Amino acid sequence: MHDVIVSGSGPSGSLSAALLATRGHDVLMLEEAHHPRKKCCAGGLLVRAQRSIGAPLPERLVERRLKAVRLVRGKESVELRSDGEIALTIRRERFDQWLVDRAIEAGATLREGVEVRGAVSSGKKVVVETSGGMEEGRALLVADGALSKCSDRLFGKCPPGSIAMGGALEADCDAADDAMEIQLLSTSNGLDSIPPACAIFPKGSGCTVSFVARGVGGGRMQKVMKDALEAYAARHGRAEAVNTCFHPIPLAPRPRLVTGRCLALGDAAGFASPFSGEGLSNAMLSAVFAADSVHRALLEKNVSPLSRYIDDCHDNILHQSEIAGTVGRNISRLLNRHGAMRLARAAAGDSRLTEAYIGLLTGDASAEEVATASLSALPRMLMRLRRH
Ligand SMILES: Cc1cc2nc3c(=O)[nH]c(=O)nc-3n(C[C@H](O)[C@H](O)[C@H](O)COP(=O)(O)OP(=O)(O)OC[C@H]3O[C@@H](n4cnc5c(N)ncnc54)[C@H](O)[C@@H]3O)c2cc1C
Repeated sequence: MHDVIVSGSGPSGSLSAALLATRGHDVLMLEEAHHPRKKCCAGGLLVRAQRSIGAPLPERLVERRLKAVRLVRGKESVELRSDGEIALTIRRERFDQWLVDRAIEAGATLREGVEVRGAVSSGKKVVVETSGGMEEGRALLVADGALSKCSDRLFGKCPPGSIAMGGALEADCDAADDAMEIQLLSTSNGLDSIPPACAIFPKGSGCTVSFVARGVGGGRMQKVMKDALEAYAARHGRAEAVNTCFHPIPLAPRPRLVTGRCLALGDAAGFASPFSGEGLSNAMLSAVFAADSVHRALLEKNVSPLSRYIDDCHDNILHQSEIAGTVGRNISRLLNRHGAMRLARAAAGDSRLTEAYIGLLTGDASAEEVATASLSALPRMLMRLRRH
């Protein structure tokens, strides 16, 4: 019997496997695909997300180092610039392969081409049903992404309406840009997008346009992303679309995060940000929390430390996501009401607020601190807006 079985070897699965194997546990990772496998993603890795890895990324994985966020609407733009880095861009195939290699180096075993179909947690073990037969473990980490059937059965389905669709349009382009560009869309365009914007991430010799929305067809999403790419190209030079992919993004947690000896992680738990659809930060944070509580449960030969995972996720992921979602919705309303760029300029001119927003991306500020900074800056910003 294995100490821990991990279903899925994306960032949440392979990071948790590496952390547990490093602490001496026998870890088996089961992956239905073969690495390097394709993952539909824009490849923006916030500094906040990198912190959970606990090691610097090798330079060969870094496509671009980003130091600013640029808000754009039509011909107008406002930049929030930081002294340090706020994010890196990466290619998911290479990044995920590196994380898997680290888990294997730490002593975990990877079996590829194996689909996990279900699991039953009873007494002192979990019996896992796979396409290659049955496996037994003392704990199961379910880290097999947004479409996890295993999570549906063990932890309950994500709440209705909480699954959005993410689109990523990859392009060749010449931009020597070091900013993450957020192209604001009108909130009265009838699209339920999260947030009402397209994000553009520059890469080594290209860029990726990302768009997240609910109930919007693929054709309409593709058109929004193509328009954003055209607007980017008009300011930065040539840009040619290469390919587009779509994949679901879960914006709300499952009813349960732990069932018996089974824990839900990352997208399989429903941990993407309801503000932006960004998911790598919480995927990797949940991996750290899961590894900590499973390690303790294995040492104490007792399942009760697993409940700490629920507390850690509630305090550091769900509570923060709830605040970020509420702040995001209100910012969207304000952008619609007062004119996006006037408000953005007023915000960019407020050093405390800028510092708080940059801090959210780097992990130096919590969503709570950003909400507090936004509320206290609002009267100053509205006064400034009224004067001009
Ligand atoms: C279009 C788009 C753009 C995005 N852009 C960003 C971004 O720029 N920045 C960001 O932070 N986040 C972004 N995200 C979100 C991010 O991709 C996810 O939050 C992140 O990949 C979650 O990691 P994970 O390890 O939980 O799951 P995944 O990365 O989905 O990994 C799950 C793994 O499980 C395997 N698997 C699936 N089913 C089974 C099974 N039954 N048995 C065994 N293995 C299985 C899969 O093959 C995969 O390897 C984006 C998402 C989309 C759709």
